[in-house]
Amino acid sequence: MTAIDDLGHITGLAYCLTTPEDLAPYAVDWRGAYRGQPIAVLRPGTTGEVAEAVKCCAAHGLAIVPAGGRTGLSGGAVVQQNGPPSIILSLERLNRIRGIDVRDFSIVAEAGCVVQTIQQAAADANRYFPIQWGAQGTAQIGGMLSTNAGGIRTLRYGNARDLVLGLEVVLPDGRVLDDLRRIRKDNSGYALRHLFIGGEGTLGIITAAALRLQPALKRLETAFVAVPSPDAALALFSRVMGCGADVVAFELCARFCLEMAGRHGVGLRIPMALDSPWYVMVELAAAHESVPLRDMLEGALADAMEKGEATDAVLAESEAQRLSFWKIREDYPECSRKEGPSLGTDTAVPVSSVPEFINTAERELKARWPDGRMAAIGHAGDGNIHLSLHAPAGFKGDRPAWIALCREMEPLVNAIAVSLGGSFSAEHGIGQSKRHAMATHKNPVALDVMQTLKHALDPQNRMNPGKVLP
Ligand SMILES: Cc1cc2nc3c(=O)[nH]c(=O)nc-3n(C[C@H](O)[C@H](O)[C@H](O)COP(=O)(O)OP(=O)(O)OC[C@H]3O[C@@H](n4cnc5c(N)ncnc54)[C@H](O)[C@@H]3O)c2cc1C
Repeated sequence: MTAIDDLGHITGLAYCLTTPEDLAPYAVDWRGAYRGQPIAVLRPGTTGEVAEAVKCCAAHGLAIVPAGGRTGLSGGAVVQQNGPPSIILSLERLNRIRGIDVRDFSIVAEAGCVVQTIQQAAADANRYFPIQWGAQGTAQIGGMLSTNAGGIRTLRYGNARDLVLGLEVVLPDGRVLDDLRRIRKDNSGYALRHLFIGGEGTLGIITAAALRLQPALKRLETAFVAVPSPDAALALFSRVMGCGADVVAFELCARFCLEMAGRHGVGLRIPMALDSPWYVMVELAAAHESVPLRDMLEGALADAMEKGEATDAVLAESEAQRLSFWKIREDYPECSRKEGPSLGTDTAVPVSSVPEFINTAERELKARWPDGRMAAIGHAGDGNIHLSLHAPAGFKGDRPAWIALCREMEPLVNAIAVSLGGSFSAEHGIGQSKRHAMATHKNPVALDVMQTLKHALDPQNRMNPGKVLP
């Protein structure tokens, strides 16, 4: 029997894809930056089938690349080129919600559930699941946890990691680690789940998770604000944080980013003239209708204008307008992709260092690539700014041609973030794209402990080889 026969036997042949047309979508990442050919794509339907598949791959000497919604931005869900023979193990059929308990504010969902499905299930139960970002209609719970995703709500609710109560994981030897409990306190030794959250599939396959829910948000108020500088945005951040309401989003965008959204976005409407260098999107929320959010937001913005921290503001007048503001932010990555070649980064610094980070990077990038166009957008309320350098308008080459010209941009921006006490990998993960940065910036003792853990759990290096570790 061949490996494919054995794998097909586990899932049923219909769920073991091997034709070039079936494999093609799994052989390239969302950005089109990484390619790698799997020998098969396996789509198991139960945790038991995942466990059997892992044992079967070990017996046949195959490596396994877990795949969720394949929206990852670091090349993690694509087979490593020139790596060992690998299958993609897609979790898309493990998509059941196993239970929701409104009394203990929790939901138990399988790894292949799309994030938006969980948001909707929570809303239907008068609860709220707060991870939110542009790819939520495609990304899955397993991918969200394996990358420890952030998004626009991190400043209020934390990263994906902070929302996990328990996990079910298939280990590299095929055993199932069943830690799928909904309790809030458990100090019975090491919190093993945290190894797999942010593990990017290198230590095991997440098959289900018990997740925290929040009270449903009954009021939301959102403003689109023009600010003169990143320093002014930081002052505005302190002001709204002190206004008495929950600040659930605080995003900063350079004018260039909104220009790109205006140029390429389908159906996007930028709510004000683009005559300011910087813009902020701020959202306040409350779990009760009676909280006077509108007054709080208007008051904070009026004070900000008086102090010169803001120069103009538009408040969403309806739910449709509020959603249209957020669509600009959510569609931005796609608009940026349409603008042409660029090289991006995913850094975080302490919130108070955001202005210094942006100002220093802008100065350095201008000095080295005067024709490049810097885009800066991000979750300023948690310190995570995505800086990228776009090729000049009219650039004739493709992405590799642009990268050849500005390859040093990423290490430069990473070094600025790290020098300010920040991280070179805030929320997208390491995958293939930041392994070199791990070698440069990761604390050597931390790296050594990571290697030890990897070897202990996956001595044959079968789980997602060529990812995360340098
Ligand atoms: C338009 C757009 C906007 C985005 N905005 C944000 C943002 O604001 N914040 C943010 O954090 N990210 C953002 N991302 C990145 C991406 O959506 C997240 O990283 C997401 O969590 C990936 O989920 P996925 O299901 O698509 O995972 P995939 O891309 O399929 O996989 C990502 C990694 O996780 C591993 N993996 C997947 N499923 C499992 C599993 N069940 N068990 C073990 N390992 C697994 C894969 O091997 C891979 O290494 C954005 C992406 C896009 C395209």
